[in-house]
Amino acid sequence: MAEHRVAVIGSGNWGSVAAKLIASNTITMPSFHDEVRMWVHEETLPDGSKLTDTINAKNENVRYLPGIKLGGDVIADPDLEHAVEGADMLVFVVPHQFVEDVCGKLVGKIGSGVEAISLIKGMEVKTEGPSMISKYITKMLGTSCCVLMGANIAQEIGMKRFSEATIGYNQDKKVARRWVELFTTDYFIVSAVQDVEGVELCGTLKNIVALAAGFVDGLDMGSNTKSAIMRIGLREMIAFSKLMFPSVKDNTFFESCGVADLITTCIGGRNRKIAEAYTRSNGTRSFSDLEEELLDGQKLQGVLTSNEVYDVLCHRKCKDQFPLFTKVHDICTGELLPSSIVEYSKFTNFEN
Ligand code: NAD
Ligand code: 13P
Repeated sequence: MAEHRVAVIGSGNWGSVAAKLIASNTITMPSFHDEVRMWVHEETLPDGSKLTDTINAKNENVRYLPGIKLGGDVIADPDLEHAVEGADMLVFVVPHQFVEDVCGKLVGKIGSGVEAISLIKGMEVKTEGPSMISKYITKMLGTSCCVLMGANIAQEIGMKRFSEATIGYNQDKKVARRWVELFTTDYFIVSAVQDVEGVELCGTLKNIVALAAGFVDGLDMGSNTKSAIMRIGLREMIAFSKLMFPSVKDNTFFESCGVADLITTCIGGRNRKIAEAYTRSNGTRSFSDLEEELLDGQKLQGVLTSNEVYDVLCHRKCKDQFPLFTKVHDICTGELLPSSIVEYSKFTNFEN
């Protein structure tokens, strides 16, 4: 008998692929209802139709994942409350700047026994301090929350190319196993590690390093420089993660969520792309202009994350230990030129 019902909250590039992966499994697994409701932040398309109607008519998200059928039994729904009604497994996958608004609308609407997972790469920084998105979801909605992160350029997974991902969980192995089952396909291999903070910080922080990699590409510095920046970035990712949560495990950085996601994002991600374009514009374009022009509605996470991480570094008075994160911030705010990313001396007195 079907015990579980899944709702996907978000329908961007990755959100649509997540719904596709999940729906390909729910139709074959007796313990899950076939239907996967996917909440859509409604918009009107150039032909005057509603995005939700078009997704349901074509079984395709023509705006955020064109050319790929969602398959399964994915039902787009513009009504957030209705989309989550009756669901006991909630998949959060909106750009992180919208989490607060989305969670705010769900407060008091989620029953007991509901499990959540966050595919969102980013963090919330409030006056009371920083919070990972999974913690924020738990605080707002009272659900426990795992995370899924990995080397996951959505388009490639939509095209069923072999990829891996990592689920981070804190305590409940049984729930983690259910999430693994729900996402795993023959081309998408998911493993689980008991380190929710480590997994989530990997996915979050690599977006800052991807900006640095994009600056290097924009400067035409070549592969050695890019690899050096990725190595320095990884070292800061590990140091920052342990500063926030000393319990973070070294091995987590060797999972798909760690070094593999860092590599894929620095090669093929949107953060890298916009940072390269920013560098090539020689100060004539802003990040937000380029985001709008080159991403066509998709959202950049790295610039916001760089600000958020910088706030934490200032608050903890440890900017000096994170020269790359600090520089990326200063480049994004226009205080430094992109060329400063390769001023080697700034990285020499970093220990470990
Ligand atoms: P996206 O950037 O492709 O799309 C933007 C989404 O935001 C659209 O669904 C749009 O409708 C929605 N939106 C716009 N305004 C909104 C508002 N006011 N409130 C709520 N939603 C609004 O989205 P995505 O790629 O699915 O990214 C979601 C998360 O997944 C991000 O944290 C991202 O880092 C992460 N992620 C993305 C990829 C990828 O390859 N795209 C891969 C792994 C993880
Ligand atoms: P971008 O947002 O830079 O495209 O990164 C996507 C991603 O997280 C791949 O795992």
